[in-house]
Order: sequence, then structure tokens, then C-alpha cells
Amino acid sequence: MTRDSELVAAAVARSATVAEVAVGSGVLASAGQLYRKHFGAGGACLIADENTFAAAGHDALASLSAAGISVRTHVLSAIPRPKPAVTQADALQAVLAIDAATPVAVGSGVINDLVKHAAFQLDRPYLCIATAASMDGYTSAGSPLSDQGFKKTITCRPARVVIGDLDVIAAAPPQMMGWGYGDLAGKVPAGGDWIIADALGVEPIDNVAWPMVQDGLSGWLAQPESIAAGDPAAVAGLFTGLTLVGLAMEAHGSSRPASGADHQIAHLWEMEGLSVAGEKVSHGACVAVGCAAVLALYDWLLTQDFSQVCADAVDMGIKEARIRAAFGPGEIAERSIDETRAKHLTREAHAARLARIRGEWPDLSRRLRARLMTAPDMHRRLAAAGAPAMAADIGVSRAHLRRTLANAVYLRSRYTLLDLLYETGLLARAIDATFPAEETREEDRS
Ligand SMILES: [Zn+2]
Repeated sequence: MTRDSELVAAAVARSATVAEVAVGSGVLASAGQLYRKHFGAGGACLIADENTFAAAGHDALASLSAAGISVRTHVLSAIPRPKPAVTQADALQAVLAIDAATPVAVGSGVINDLVKHAAFQLDRPYLCIATAASMDGYTSAGSPLSDQGFKKTITCRPARVVIGDLDVIAAAPPQMMGWGYGDLAGKVPAGGDWIIADALGVEPIDNVAWPMVQDGLSGWLAQPESIAAGDPAAVAGLFTGLTLVGLAMEAHGSSRPASGADHQIAHLWEMEGLSVAGEKVSHGACVAVGCAAVLALYDWLLTQDFSQVCADAVDMGIKEARIRAAFGPGEIAERSIDETRAKHLTREAHAARLARIRGEWPDLSRRLRARLMTAPDMHRRLAAAGAPAMAADIGVSRAHLRRTLANAVYLRSRYTLLDLLYETGLLARAIDATFPAEETREEDRS
């Protein structure tokens, strides 16, 4: 067993839901056998879209049929692409509910998230056949879906069995590997955010979930060129990393081990329906750019001395007005007000928070330096992996990026770097210093 497969086996053994993760070249051929082992001889309902069905659906059907499993199929149209929305998950639930079939998801991000939600609603375990190493949701308990236009991670259960056939994954559209690399890269600043929350006594680091993500991270991110070239060992590392991240979220009971300010930024763009040339920008691409932007804020943060910081508290009424001005009427503003209220501090608590920041700063800044990568380093890696790094790469202008960085803080109650900057009254200054308003050519900044 390699070190990575040992880590996966240990994480699976700890998982309440995931019973087996099969990663390797040609493992799709054992789908029927794995199905019988974990789900018995009852019928299956294979759910895919036209693209993912072409990638792995035929071989999955052949393997399931050879194992004596009766399978009905439900193939969604590829154009327009299936939407990650609760309404679509509900439609799949109705498809599944006509009999007792075990769901078999054949696909990547959206298909898996929709089936995960539908299977959970019906209290059925499911099998997931991954068609790309494009995100970390195969083994995670959460399903990030939009509900009345607000994207949130809904607690579900991960797949009982995940099949990651490296031949299928290497044949996926090349940009999907870049998306997976971007989603994994986001764990670098997300780790920084958790260190901050830990140091300030907001949310302690969990000694089970933290090492599952952070111990292997620099290794999985070390060879972006090889990942882009489809090198089997590097791709296996990427898929393993994404798998372990999912298991870490399940172990921790929230997405904290995997998602910080980088994901809040990404979720905001996803909710806005960010598109380039008529195509929605993928989750991993949004996270890649969010990750690079947050690391740039971290680079600035670590040039500052917070051991003397002072700031006035901001009243909840003012925050509410800012949120309404930022998002306009509707669900995003309403939910953001709730999330922001959940982390709002009284004046006394704010003063105590600042005192804690001042006191912790020498140790906190040392911990962050030891853990983070710089923004220029991350830009180089993302580009080598075929992922976007600059906001302009995904059609986000400088002004739009600045707005997003200022507003993402309201989206979730989860404490991140953005909250530290907000509470110290330095968020606007950090954004100005890092992404100045004047038109600077993107090339000049890397
Ligand atoms: Zn993600």
C-alpha cells in the first residue's frame, strides 16, 4: 500500500458512511462486484448526463449487468448542463422514488451532488462512479446546492462506495483536472482561516480532520505540471487528496476543514451565475481564483503588525444596511444578514476580540507563515495545472473582484481572514493595497 492509499483506508475505516473507495486504473470493471458486495442483488438506477454517460456509463452498465444487477438508467441532457439546485435534486428524487433502486451516480460535481441529495432524502445509500478529479464532493457529507438562489452546503451523506478509475479520470476534459487542482489549492488559505479561528478561540482545530487535509496537501499540490500532463501517479495523488478532503469534512461534520474565504468568494460568483462565453464558470475555477486572491490578502496581512491594532466596533444595524446595499433585495441579503448576525460581537466582545488579536499576533503570524503559500507561488502552480489564477481569467473585472472581496465576509458565519480584517477595520485597506482600484494590467501584478 502506498502512503496515500493507507491514508484513504484509515479515513474510510473512520467514516460513518463511506465503506470503500476504489482508486486505480481499470477499477470501473469491478463496479458490478463492488455493487453486490455493498448493496446486494437489488436493482440499480444509474444517473448520468449525456457526457458522463459516454465517459463511463456504458462500462458501468456492462459491469453491473455482468454481475446480475438489473439497471434502469436516467440520463440528463448535457445542454444546458444540469444545475446544482435543490429543484433538480427533487426531480431526481421523484425518478428514484418509483421503486427501491439503489442510486448509481456516474459523473462529477453536479451529478454527484444532485444524487447525494436525492438519495439522502430517500434514506438510500448510493454508489458513485467518478468521471473527473474536478472537486472534493465525492466523499463529503455536504451537497452545495442553490436553494431559491442562495448557494449553501446542505448536510447529506456521502456515497457508500466511490469508484475512481484513473483511465476515465485522465480522459476527462483537461480543464477539469485544473478545477480539481483549484478546489484542492483552496485548502491552503482555508487552513490559514482555520488557524486564525483557532488562535482567536472562535473554532478550535480538530485534530482528526486537520491532518487528513493538511498533512498531505503540499505533496498533492507539488506537481501541477504532471497533473496537467495526465501523469497517472500525479492524477492519483490529486484524486486521493480530493477524496481525503471529503472524508475530513464528513469526519468534522462541516466543511470547515475544506472551505474558508476562498469558497465564500467562489460561492458568491456561483450565485451571480458567473459565465464566460455563455458557459457557467465551474466551482473549481472560481475557487482557484478565490484562493489566489485570499493568499494575496494573506501576503499583505503578514506584512502588518497587529500587535497594536485598534478599531471601532461596527453596529449590526450598519452591517445590515451594508449588506442590503451590497446585495439588493432578495434571498442572498436575507441569509447574509442571518449569517452575519450569528457572528456579530457586542461592543465588549469586540474589544475583547481585539485584545486577543493583539496578544496572539506574534504566535498567530508565525503559524500562518509556516503554513501558507504566497500568492505568486500559487499563481504559478495554478497556471501549470491548467487552472485560472487571475480574476480576469474567469471574466471578473478588477472592480468586480474588489466588490466580491468586500462583500464575501457577510455570506457565512464561518470566521475567516476576512472577519479578522473586518473586525480590525482593515478590510478596505487590505483590498486597496492588494488589488488597487486603478486599472493596473493583471500581468503587472503577478
Ligand atoms: Zn469546493
